[in-house]
Order: sequence, then structure tokens, then C-alpha cells
Amino acid sequence: MGDGTGNTVQGTRKKAGEPHQVLHLPMFILPCSLFLVPFSTNNAQSAEKRVKKRVYIAYTGGTIGMERTPRGYAPTPGFLQRQLEQIAELQRDEMPGFTVNEYQPLLDSSNMTPAHWLRIASDIADNYAQYDGFIVLHGTDTMAYTASALSFMLAGLSKPVVVTGSQIPLCEIRNDARENLINSLLIAGNYPIPEVCLYFGNKLLRGNRSVKVDADALDAFDSPNFPPLGEAGVNIEINWDLVTRPAARPGHALEVLQLEDPSVVGALRLFPGISARMLRNILNPPLQGLVLEAFGVGNGPEEDAEFLQVLQEATERGVVIVDCTQCLKGTVQLQDYASGRELARAGVVSGFDMTAEAALTKLFWLLDGNRRPEEARVLMQSNLRGEMTA
Ligand code: ASP
Repeated sequence: MGDGTGNTVQGTRKKAGEPHQVLHLPMFILPCSLFLVPFSTNNAQSAEKRVKKRVYIAYTGGTIGMERTPRGYAPTPGFLQRQLEQIAELQRDEMPGFTVNEYQPLLDSSNMTPAHWLRIASDIADNYAQYDGFIVLHGTDTMAYTASALSFMLAGLSKPVVVTGSQIPLCEIRNDARENLINSLLIAGNYPIPEVCLYFGNKLLRGNRSVKVDADALDAFDSPNFPPLGEAGVNIEINWDLVTRPAARPGHALEVLQLEDPSVVGALRLFPGISARMLRNILNPPLQGLVLEAFGVGNGPEEDAEFLQVLQEATERGVVIVDCTQCLKGTVQLQDYASGRELARAGVVSGFDMTAEAALTKLFWLLDGNRRPEEARVLMQSNLRGEMTA
């Protein structure tokens, strides 16, 4: 259906959590200066003939598209698209063409579940062949979890998937939404980074290395154990040496590794005085995997024999327990201290320098289906998508 601006809006399915509305913006010829592959102005003529890049935007919710309501900020269907129509820059020739797929319901990301990750991954896979890059507009609260989960679920990625959002909605005069969106569009359209990334506050981070580090600042994300993949300063600079090589030839089908029967996993942050009883309660069936956020280089209360006994019984039952550090930076070294060695002896495996978000989503994915715990433990300690320093 036409909206009078030359853009087209299509209504789609309206089942809970499914894509709701699709906004197509027209295709333009992209001027040579914005193509990723460096080329001189001599190539300008051939560049003019190139087809404008296209980006698919999965709009899941989050602050970026929220409206002021009497209940506080809340996502309202159609509101983001009306805001986008007012941003003149999005219509410029240098920008990629894009399609917005508005999900229904739009979510505050605190409500995200593994079923939503699967829906986003499947949506990207369904549209994979038609677009040069993908953006997932998402709330910041669980953005690092979704970016991590997508990195494991999308196998054979050869195009960029950029997860972004904002701390201040697009509708406010002062906002970070506009910059985050425009830069994400330019990156997703023009830089063939075959990874799930997170763009925020001028930084392009590897998705499964990212962490929300600030509840208030516009520079809300960081990847403490891995340098940024890129930075948007005067120019958008990509650190190509860090970017993963494409797993498949461009155009090759993308595989979504399903979470058919979501596994039961959890996370537990150790604290001084934690009891063996509390640990036993959380490790009880049906739990299959646990991220143990331990002290320092992965240490726990090794003088508590019952605590160790509970860990050992659980690992013998097949529960996969992965040790991650509570520290923002650094890596687990279970052999450094007796308090780490005893955890390892009880069957706990090292998460090395993985974020707790990456470890949790990796567990969700690895323990889906009938994978043997032994195999899952080996894979948890292996670098599969750049999530840990090998
Ligand atoms: N509560 C919001 C969300 O995560 C916060 C945000 O988007 O910044 O959806």
C-alpha cells in the first residue's frame, strides 16, 4: 500500500511476536564514495551503475522506537516508522535502501526469551538472499544476550548483522537513536562483515563479546576482552584484521541452528557466604547447564566440602557447569588457586574469557537437542564464533 511518500507499507501476519509491518524505502544508486571496497574516482562511472545496497531491519522493540505515554516510555506500533519518515538523511542517495519489519508485539527487551531469538534468527534467514545486510533494532537491556545468541544460531553467515538500539528514543530532541541507526545502516549496507555485531555509541563490537556496561551513558556498551571491530569517528574505520573470515561463499544459504526444545539453563553469581543448599536448589533437575559466575580467575569456596559435593553430583548427573569470571575483564584460570582447582575437580569447566551473556546463550544452544554433556563441555571450552580467545 502506498503512503504518499513513494515508500510502501505492507501489513503482514499479526501473531504474537511475529513480523507485523513492512516498510519498503525506494532503491537509489549509491555514489561511489560510500562503497566499502576502496576504489578511486576513476571508478565513479561504473559505481554509478551499481545497484543501491539494501538493508533489512528487524524492529523488535526497545527504547529507540518508544513513545512517551502516561505509563512512561513504551513501544507503540507504527510510531517508529512515522519517526523514520521524518529523517531526511535516510532518504539521501548515500544511504542504503531499507525495509522495516515491525514485530508484534514490540518488546521492552527485558521480556526477550530464547523463542524470540529464534524468531529473529529465522526472520533474518527468510530474508537473507534479498538483502546485503541486517539490522536488529532492540532494547539495550538484553541486547548483549540477543547479539550473543544470534551469533551461535546463525551458521555460515557471510553478511553483516548489526544489533543496535538507543538509550534515548528517536522522538526526543536529544537522542542517540539517530546516530546509532544511521551508522548501523551505513555499516550493514556497505561493510561486508560476516558477523553478528553490536553497534552503539560510535563503536562496532563483536556481538558475543559485548556487555552493557552503563545504565545511563550513551556509550553504554563495551567488549572488555576484545577490541572493537570498528569505530565511527570522522570516518567509519573497520579493523579488518579482527573480523572473522566468511564461513561461506556470499550467496550461500544461511543455516539457523534451531532452539527447538529450549534447554533449561541458568546463571548463578557467587557471593561470599553462598550456601551449598542454595546451590543444590538451583542445580536440581531439570537444569541442564549453569553459568557459574565465580570470583576473580574463576575461584569459589573450596573449603565448603558440601558445596563441592553438590557441584560434583550435578556434573555426574550430566549438568554442564561453566565457570566465568565476575570481573569485567580477564580470563578464568582454574589451575591458579586451590579454590579454582577444586571446582575443576568437581567437573566445572572453564569459560575462559567469555562474557556471562555469551556463555549462557552458548549453553542454551549447545544443550538444545540430545548433545551428550561431555561433548557440550568440550564445545563450551572451544572458540566457535570468536566468543573466546582461543
Ligand atoms: N528497557 C529498554 C529495553 O531494553 C531499555 C532500552 O532499550 O534502552 O527494551
